[in-house]
Formats: sequence, C-alpha cells, structure tokens
Amino acid sequence: MSTVTRSIENKNTENISREEKRRRVLADSRPRTTVSFYRYVKIPDPAAFRLRLLSCWSRLGCLGRIYVAGEGINAQMNVPTENWEEFDNWVQAQTELKGVPYKIAVEEGSAPSFYKLTIKVRPKIVADGLDDTTFDPSATGEYLNAKEMNEYIDDPNAVVIDMRNAYESEIGHFEKAIRPDVDTFREELQLVPKLLAAHKDKKIALYCTGGIRCEKASAWLKHQGYKNVKHLKGGVIDYKHQVERQGLPNRFRGKNFVFDERLGERIGDEVISHCHLCQKNKSDVHHHCQNQVCHILFLGCEACVSKYDGYCSQRCRLFDKLPLATKKFYARYYNQYFRGSQFKKARLNKS
Ligand SMILES: [Zn+2]
Ligand SMILES: [Zn+2]
Repeated sequence: MSTVTRSIENKNTENISREEKRRRVLADSRPRTTVSFYRYVKIPDPAAFRLRLLSCWSRLGCLGRIYVAGEGINAQMNVPTENWEEFDNWVQAQTELKGVPYKIAVEEGSAPSFYKLTIKVRPKIVADGLDDTTFDPSATGEYLNAKEMNEYIDDPNAVVIDMRNAYESEIGHFEKAIRPDVDTFREELQLVPKLLAAHKDKKIALYCTGGIRCEKASAWLKHQGYKNVKHLKGGVIDYKHQVERQGLPNRFRGKNFVFDERLGERIGDEVISHCHLCQKNKSDVHHHCQNQVCHILFLGCEACVSKYDGYCSQRCRLFDKLPLATKKFYARYYNQYFRGSQFKKARLNKS
C-alpha cells in the first residue's frame, strides 16, 4: 500500500545499476526478436531449472523477465536474432519446454523491450491464491478458436465468461459475456464457480488477454466438477489476429486491455466505456493518477484529464502539493479513508 515509500526506496537503490545496464543494452545494437511464452508443466525443482535457463540464456545474450514455479514457466524476453536458432534448439531440447508455442512480436519497438535478464522463482506463475495440493493446473480445458468463440456467443446453451479484472473488461469485452466485478485473478477464481453454479450443464467458454489465466481457470473449473469448459486459445490478442486473417465477424466490442505503455489495443472503433471523472463523456483511455500515493487507474476524457492535470480528483491534486514528509506520513491513511470508492461505483453503474 505504501507506494510512496516504495518508489522512494527504488530511486535510491536501483537507479545506478539500472542506468549502467541500460547503457550497455543501448550500446548493443544487434537486432533482437521479442518473444513470449508460457506453459503449465510440473517443475519439481524450480531453483535448478532457473539455473539451467540462466546459464544458457545469459550466454546467448537474452534479456527479459521470466518467472519459474513448481507449476510452470512464464517468459517475456528478447533474443539477439543472430542467436535465435541456437535459442530455439536449446528450448526444444528441454523436456519441460519442448513444443512450447512462442508468441513473437510482429513489430520491434525503437527502444529495446528489456534491459536485463531476470529469472525469478515464484510460488506460482499466475498468482491464484489457491492452496489446494490436489489441483493440477496442467489439466486444462480444451481450446476454442475465434470462429468457435463466435458460435458460442450465438449459442443460447453456452455461457461466455470474462476471466479478466473489471478494469480490463470495462473498456472492451465479448458480446453477452459475464463480467465479474473483481480486481484480481484470485477473486475471480473464487467468484466464477459461484456465478456458474446456475449454468452447470451449459457449455462454458472462458477468455482473457493472452490465454495464460484461462489455462489455469479452465483447469480449476474442471477440478470443481465442470465438465464442458473450453477457453479462447491465445486470448483476445490472438482472436483479433484470427478475425483479421480469416475475415470473421468481430464479436469483441471496444478495446483490449494490454499491459504496456499504451494500456490498450483497439479492436473495433467503438468506445463502450465512460470517463470516471465526469461520468458523462465516453472514454476508453486509462490514466494513472499523478498522485503517487493514489496512483489509481482511471478512465478519463480529454476535458477531465486537462481540468485535473492528470489527477483522478481535485483532492489528489491538492494532496500532491504537500511537502514530501507530510505525504509520507499520510500515505497509509490516504487510500483507505480519502481516496473514496467513486471509481468502483462508477464502473458498476455502467454495465
Ligand atoms: Zn470526463
Ligand atoms: Zn488519485
């Protein structure tokens, strides 16, 4: 909760080495291939697996952020293109990774996508809050492609569930999808079996941004006794590509929320959400409140963003002008007592 403390600490401890790493990466002008992949697979000794990845991938000059857990691997990284073949051969030779589907970025940005290679061992690759040891996340449901997803949307015997958080589904979602009002995937996993109890005999289709959450969610629902659970392969990101390639009707309305600096990728040209500040104008543009203590993600129309200088409220704008020591002192209480819940309410009203 203490965002201010955290960002102040980060400034003091990490900046020098980060700058140095940045310089080295910028000096390395080799073309790079940006790739992401994940897999739920049992990794009995994640620490040993991590060392294996680290020794090969650092030798090949890879950069990125990789999470390893007993349940699998989730990697976002880049590889010097000249080393791609060696990288791929090595990956295919590992039993845990053989045949893993790569998602390769079509366009390389002008800036490198990563400045260092970080491989972390985590309890889970996707935080789920589950501690059921009998649950096997690699026992996932079957896949749906874009065409099949469209058929599910038209099928009265099918239920479509958005497995993303409410701030993601608010700006874009499939027609007729059930959109749980949750802020985390943990909450989602708890709520969805309850929401589905009335639809136990129906066909169930899940979707998320890129597919990784649905792999786990479909396995979880199967573990809960749901038989007919499928999910959209590659998530909304790949749905968009399939729709374009195959000329299918687009049944996704609005914008797909993606975690990068754009905070969203437009799929159609329709804006389906409203500004959280005036609650009148349409907006699908997310902003982080400029007050680092608040930092809430809100939808803001141009008029409101300019009126409040990028803050979520007049209160945050005034708070930010206080001396740093005072802000630090109040940081803990600010979000609890002063930030208010108007954003969450705004979201609920606009369904
Ligand atoms: Zn507005
Ligand atoms: Zn704020």
